[in-house]
Amino acid sequence: MALSQDLLDILACPQCKGPVHYDAPAQEICCRHCLLAYPVRDEIPVMLVDEARPLGGAGGEGPP
Ligand SMILES: [Zn+2]
Repeated sequence: MALSQDLLDILACPQCKGPVHYDAPAQEICCRHCLLAYPVRDEIPVMLVDEARPLGGAGGEGPP
């Protein structure tokens, strides 16, 4: 089940307060401005900068 567009419309990046984009395959809420991806747990977006992961550039992303 996907997140509703209505929900996405009211979500904003907690860091830049800008609009976010839902990456359905990855189950993440992405901010293209901050290059952060917020997790979605049990269909609840976790809009916390502390919980976000940085969106990698050209491959090889992820902490060691
Ligand atoms: Zn942002």
